[in-house]
Amino acid sequence: PAGDIADLVRSRIRDVADYPKPGIVFKDITPLLADPSAFQSTVEALGSPWLGASPAVDKVVGIEARGFILAAPVALALGAGFVPVRKAGKLPSAVLSRSYALEYGEATLQVHRDAFAPGERVLVVDDVLATGGTVEATTSLIREAGAEVVGVSVLLELAFLAGRARLEGQDGFDVRALL
Ligand code: AMP
Repeated sequence: PAGDIADLVRSRIRDVADYPKPGIVFKDITPLLADPSAFQSTVEALGSPWLGASPAVDKVVGIEARGFILAAPVALALGAGFVPVRKAGKLPSAVLSRSYALEYGEATLQVHRDAFAPGERVLVVDDVLATGGTVEATTSLIREAGAEVVGVSVLLELAFLAGRARLEGQDGFDVRALL
């Protein structure tokens, strides 16, 4: 049941105060990753809303770096491929880029131009949805690359930062958070 997975995730995420800077409470997922049964249940729960979907999910996108750890096993669980969205300068072939505002400064994300076949259906996976800027840049890259975003699945949503509202301003895809 949904309550059980939320409790499990809550019990395996460690709050680290004032990291990476004063005033931020960092949600550390390493205790969850270190527990094989919690990791397994989490991967299943992240993918389950799209398991057996028709039409199927073709690709699962992971956002560097913690998103990679979760998205790759979700892709396998869904019988989908994995596509990395990376920080600028890390992907070897031709890329599409999106820059977006952070609290201080700017970040750039990239995806390979040929990462998707036209019209492929894509699920985005990350650890934490905060302001939604990172996922918004990612969904915009996926669409520019010619694919369709069908959902966003995260471990944890910081609801007070209203990332969900920002994403729901875009095309209708499902945003799911385990917690
Ligand atoms: P945002 O773009 O504001 O939604 O931030 C989301 C990205 O930053 C995700 O890739 C998260 O991994 C990371 N992030 C933001 N806030 C936190 C937090 N409090 N704890 C851990 N990671 C965070």
